Amino acid sequence: MVDKRKREVDDECRQIQEEWSVKYFFIESADKALCVICHETVAVLNKYNFRHHYQSKHQRKYSQFERNIREEKLAKLKQSINSKRSVFPKASKQNESIRASFKVAYILAKNGKPLTDGEIIKNCLLKNVDELCLEKSNSIKTITLGDNTVARRIGDMSTNLKEQIASNAKNFVHFFFGNG
Ligand SMILES: [Zn+2]
Repeated sequence: MVDKRKREVDDECRQIQEEWSVKYFFIESADKALCVICHETVAVLNKYNFRHHYQSKHQRKYSQFERNIREEKLAKLKQSINSKRSVFPKASKQNESIRASFKVAYILAKNGKPLTDGEIIKNCLLKNVDELCLEKSNSIKTITLGDNTVARRIGDMSTNLKEQIASNAKNFVHFFFGNG
């Protein structure tokens, strides 16, 4: 019974959120709400904040669109956010063991750890799955975490980020250099 009620509440929340998305172009992103038009975030997820933002910044341009056009625009804006924001290159989305090795490489790079730590992490993972979920151990074994692979993954992520910055920079109006 409790589960059923919870599901109903969840469904209801999702419907409300979809409604707000279409009306005010906000989506939920990492516990915040994100305006898909200008990428500003709002910390408090609340209809009045969304409406205020939309009315003061975007209503003039967007109020002319009917519902089906709004839905189309929303989908396009969402898609461009999802494809632009990932640090992981597109290739990593196709295969889960490649994706897993990118994620480990990302942690090593962020923490300034030696590339050779990849193998140690893999050993830790294998020891853990031995204890916790034996059925996953074969998929852990397919994750490549040798130093050469980790180096390549980090190189791919940095190229990916560089390309995103270069492509976003085309839309910049001003550049600032120096200590500002
Ligand atoms: Zn906005």
